[in-house]
Amino acid sequence: MFRQVRGDIYTYLNLKTGHPIQLYLKDAGTFMSLVGKHNSTEQGYYQVTEKYQMRRGVKSLVSGTYTIYVLSALSPPYFRNTVAHELAHDLGHELYPAVQKQEDVEGFAEYVSAIMNSYWGNDNLNQEKLENREKDYAYAYKKFLKIGRKNGLGGVLDYMEKQNRTAGAK
Ligand SMILES: [Zn+2]
Repeated sequence: MFRQVRGDIYTYLNLKTGHPIQLYLKDAGTFMSLVGKHNSTEQGYYQVTEKYQMRRGVKSLVSGTYTIYVLSALSPPYFRNTVAHELAHDLGHELYPAVQKQEDVEGFAEYVSAIMNSYWGNDNLNQEKLENREKDYAYAYKKFLKIGRKNGLGGVLDYMEKQNRTAGAK
């Protein structure tokens, strides 16, 4: 199902990375001790470790480890939603590395996973995004809905591109 979600994001949104991603399912206790300090509402966690080298002033990637942890025993719709959200973090990391602002990082992931939820016929999960107890997430999602109101995903990608340029120029 993980591979299917990744494939659907590519097929439907034409977004992908070539990262080999390891997926781990963790029971609630292990999941909380693993990511609890980072996050209180997500049922998944994206972790990346990359090694770079500098040669003649050029920075290049030597190796990378990409991991997604997902809470075990989620129903298929919640699993897909969570995986789509975490895969959006992987996309964001690759395509817009300079974007670090929490609101943009999470808003982008919520927006992408929401489009996919609609694609899979799970619009009810998007209503839950709006009512997220974690107000920062609800706010970030609403912000991205607004950005995407005119041109949909295209408008959102333009926004991320622009944020990446601005942040990268600093
Ligand atoms: Zn997230």
